[in-house]
Amino acid sequence: MRTFVAKIGLVELSITSIDSLIAVIPHLLGFVPTKSVVCLWTLDKRISLTMRVDLPVMETNFDANAWAEQLLSCGIHSGGTNIHVVIYADVNSSDFAQAIGRAASHSGLHVDTLITMCDAKRFEYECTECHSSKCIGHEVMPEASDLRKMGALLPVPAASREEVIAEIDEILNPHVRALVVTESAAYTALRASNADAHNLEKWRDESIALVRRDWGHVSSLDDPLRTLTPQLARSIVALNDVRCRDAVLWVIARPDTDLQQIGEYLAHVVINAPESMVPGPASVLSAVRWLQGDGLRAMAACLKALNAAPDYTLALLVETALRAGLPPVFWLETMRVLTYDQCRARRRVRPGRSEDSDTSMSA
Ligand SMILES: [Zn+2]
Repeated sequence: MRTFVAKIGLVELSITSIDSLIAVIPHLLGFVPTKSVVCLWTLDKRISLTMRVDLPVMETNFDANAWAEQLLSCGIHSGGTNIHVVIYADVNSSDFAQAIGRAASHSGLHVDTLITMCDAKRFEYECTECHSSKCIGHEVMPEASDLRKMGALLPVPAASREEVIAEIDEILNPHVRALVVTESAAYTALRASNADAHNLEKWRDESIALVRRDWGHVSSLDDPLRTLTPQLARSIVALNDVRCRDAVLWVIARPDTDLQQIGEYLAHVVINAPESMVPGPASVLSAVRWLQGDGLRAMAACLKALNAAPDYTLALLVETALRAGLPPVFWLETMRVLTYDQCRARRRVRPGRSEDSDTSMSA
């Protein structure tokens, strides 16, 4: 196998064998995959895109070739020239591998790895170790030194995809809920009153400052998220105000932001929000996870937002980008040409016009 470098967080690992590749995949995804196809595109021996999709069900009319073509088209944006594919299946069948091999040659991709994992064994497509035409399966034995490095340097992956998705399940905290109602009423009153345009902008500036301050507290205090409930309620309401939300997005797209810390903070906001106030923070969370290269958490946050508000534009935007396999640099390039004031978009209410014409709560 051609050696390549897998970068996970700040750790760089040199992957030198198929078995080490299999061992690193749960760390790349953040969970142990089952019934999945995992594709890694590489360019100049570095991963340019990691993608996991559910293994489709082979029904009578299922067109495996069309499926494989579509799957590999997701990697075009990444510029990857080589591909490693690991299929996780309950039954060892070469149908998927065959279709992927064919699609890769159509698109000029060099296939470095094409295997099916089944019953903890790897079955290679066009195996060179087996003399029969069909691979009989091989024990997976990663390099001991690679395993040591992964164990010492990388966080333990979650046991399953479901476990990761459940990380942002709602928790009902009546105290936070009561504070959200109060905060929301204050916000609605500010918006309804034309005379209060100045105070509304002040509320927004304060809220943005509060969100920025609180995400910095996530890891610096013992248990700050439990003790800052009034601020948490304010953040929940503020992140559903488009002007606050977009200003926060601008800050997130700056270089050197601690995305992991911001992600943890936003996840806490999302799980405490009543359903009607999930879309704002969940969409911002999905953007953060996408920037981190964590597709599963990005999609989970996206779907949570869309479940609460199917037309929520920001969530739809991130969802489309994720499904198309667009790298986060597309987002960063767009955000970085904007100024803070363009994202913050302070409103100057004209006489006779009410703030109600604003779309701040629905975009
Ligand atoms: Zn074999």
